[in-house]
Amino acid sequence: MNVADSDRLSRSLENLGYSRAAGAEDADVIILNTCVVRQSAEDKALGRLNSLRPLKQAKPELVINLMGCLVGVQGNQVMQKRFPWVDVFSGPSDPQPLLEFLGEAADCEQAKAWREQIDQVLDEEFGVLSPTQGPRVSENLPIVLGCSHACAYCVIPHRRGRERSRDAEKILHEATAMTERGAREVVLLGQIVDRYGLDLPRSPLLPELLAQLAQIPALKRIRFLTSHPNWMTDALLKEVARQEKVMPHIEVPIQAGDDNVLLAMRRGYTNAQYRELVGRIRELIPGVSIGTDIIVGFPGESEQAFMKTYDLLQDLKLDVAHLARYSPRPNTYSARFLEDDIPAVEKMRRFRALEDLQEQIVGELNKAFLGQNVPVLFEGKSKKRWYGRTPTNRLAFVDSQEDLLGQLRTVRVNWTGPWSLIGELVPA
Ligand code: SAH
Repeated sequence: MNVADSDRLSRSLENLGYSRAAGAEDADVIILNTCVVRQSAEDKALGRLNSLRPLKQAKPELVINLMGCLVGVQGNQVMQKRFPWVDVFSGPSDPQPLLEFLGEAADCEQAKAWREQIDQVLDEEFGVLSPTQGPRVSENLPIVLGCSHACAYCVIPHRRGRERSRDAEKILHEATAMTERGAREVVLLGQIVDRYGLDLPRSPLLPELLAQLAQIPALKRIRFLTSHPNWMTDALLKEVARQEKVMPHIEVPIQAGDDNVLLAMRRGYTNAQYRELVGRIRELIPGVSIGTDIIVGFPGESEQAFMKTYDLLQDLKLDVAHLARYSPRPNTYSARFLEDDIPAVEKMRRFRALEDLQEQIVGELNKAFLGQNVPVLFEGKSKKRWYGRTPTNRLAFVDSQEDLLGQLRTVRVNWTGPWSLIGELVPA
């Protein structure tokens, strides 16, 4: 989501005549887009923000914009006092404060032209303005902003505001524009993406939106994340199976395996219901891969409770598990009312245990691809190798002299590891 927000703002600026600086020291404007979902992310953001202070001291005309979840949707007066070297504060997905600030600095004659530009930039939303940077094969396209689900641990609803599905026409228009500048895949984003359209009257829901997007000729692949288990309807799963362009990969977090922990987290489902859902996804979408998110060390998580998570991962053999150690976030239910009672070393031990287990599982799962032919959409080159993704979102590498950027090609896999596949191109 933050990558999409940053892209949108940098495109706006490019449209207004700015260009990318080589580094912070060379820049006239610095935008720090921040995430605070965990304490570690917030610490990193604060570290970067502090490192900008000497630059501002050395060059007072430098414009520094602090953006994203560190600021939140309400903006923040306190922030101004705390970070006096910041010129502009803006919330997530909001380019307006910076554009207005830069516009005010323009002289009278320029001001009108600048105003028109800003209005256009704000109107165009995500992804329509043409960038000066090269094409990106896979683009992020937010379709639901904010979140209204009150998971006990989560700061996102506090910082990104309530759930707002975006207009379907706009999304289709933006996806088309993305393909016109070289994208071949769009990744639809939302905190609970499978709720798309439920908050709008007469809006298509996610299955219909997927079907409409699949009509865009130049678009080869569509993905979406992240889903909440309770909104994964059979209609959605069947549409994923039916639409060839929609990739068979579902990101659906469980967060914890123990029913009491799930209840305290306010997730709204049980271990058994999640297992049933995984069975249903696998039944309705042949060859599907499934990703999950897990938090270890939530307040009150006993060893037995943790083992429920461990056993679930061991049983279900999911393709991806994004692991996190619990940290209390400001104003969330768990930070206010539950004691952060699992010691850091114990959180780390649980984290490592799941990490080791998952590495073993994925290593095994990936072996099934050995000797197989898989379609790979190539996204770029790293060192000398081209890399891309398989339908189930595995990273695949090949050596090739050809320009493979944006191409969908068949690869025969001849090496597999837990984190990637290596293969060679099958002649077309
Ligand atoms: N709405 C999406 C994304 C949430 S943020 C979803 O439900 O998946 C991504 C992940 O960060 C979450 O899934 C959760 O696993 C983790 N996370 C959120 N708050 C956290 C916290 N306070 N401590 C540790 N991990 C957290």
